[in-house]
Amino acid sequence: MNSQKIDLLSLLPAELEEFLISLGEPKYRAKQLFTQMHRGVSPADMTNIGKGTKQKLDELAYYALPSIRRKLVSAIDGTVKYLFELSDGNSVESVVMKYKHGNTICVSSQVGCRMGCAFCASTIGGKLRDLAPSEILGQVLVAQNDTGERISNIVMMGIGEPLDNYKNVIKFLRLVGCEDGMNIGYRHISLSTCGLVDKIDALAKEDMPITLSISLHASDDETRSSIMPVNKRWNIAALLDACRRYYQSTGRRISFEYTLISGKNDSVAAAERLARLLNKALRPSKSDSFPIHVNLIPVNPVAETEFSATGKQAVQKFAKTLEDNGIRATVRRTLGADINASCGQLRREDEKNKS
Ligand code: SAH
Repeated sequence: MNSQKIDLLSLLPAELEEFLISLGEPKYRAKQLFTQMHRGVSPADMTNIGKGTKQKLDELAYYALPSIRRKLVSAIDGTVKYLFELSDGNSVESVVMKYKHGNTICVSSQVGCRMGCAFCASTIGGKLRDLAPSEILGQVLVAQNDTGERISNIVMMGIGEPLDNYKNVIKFLRLVGCEDGMNIGYRHISLSTCGLVDKIDALAKEDMPITLSISLHASDDETRSSIMPVNKRWNIAALLDACRRYYQSTGRRISFEYTLISGKNDSVAAAERLARLLNKALRPSKSDSFPIHVNLIPVNPVAETEFSATGKQAVQKFAKTLEDNGIRATVRRTLGADINASCGQLRREDEKNKS
């Protein structure tokens, strides 16, 4: 790999400037490079940069974008799924979804995942490595150039636990918001986490008003621990406390993801318990207006697991029970149903075909 060389696409404007000055280059060179690199142009192909500069850059640094190993386009709704190959041969997935309010990309943050959620395809082979900021950004850049349409929203809900790759994810968020770069602001970004409480607290202090999405998936500790090992480290009460702190310091709403698994967490009693739990933890007094939104997702069956999805009627009943108890609930619209668009599955398929 290029580990000894500087990863140009992971550098913030000020860092790039410092690096170029150390090479004896003028300050304005940094802006020239940054602007073009963040449009997908490699320094080697830049026409406004001299041969000498290119040579110096080539000796000490590199610029790499993920390449498209596979691409699937949904005939139903135009959702595009990419299997990207990274420079070390590993692969990750991204999905571009077309909504009325703009194109949204779901990006990966790690190669694999070490969180061990029982229903998730991404964690089956464990975590191989973290992605660099440039590798997360590269997914957005290449997808935007490939589709030829501006991507205006980002969700960090692909392969990996973003808060388990905290430093690189924070840097990615700063880079993607740069005016001379992709210019996607914090308000257009959501980050989904299985609940690393220490990192949620750290994020609250970053002055980065992104939307936080919490993968809750259960309304009692016993059930949650049985499908999400992270719950043994931070239980539901600790997680919801952190959510309240996050809201208090950022003012950003928090949404909860709840994957409905048949016979596991989808009863009316579970819905009632969930409503009680969220109301009690997040709206302790009657006047409290903490906005609570639960996104219900019938589990996507993964070949290696025994879980099956809750039926349509029971999903509606679960949603209504939440609504009746003052919790806004929506059922996640399935996009790209014909292209296996839920994450981790394409990479799994590819790995299995290789072996
Ligand atoms: N690690 C992060 C983000 C990645 S997963 C997290 O845990 O939030 C994005 C969402 O998809 C999470 O809510 C995750 O729990 C959910 N998910 C994973 N596998 C799924 C499956 N088979 N069916 C439905 N949702 C799934």
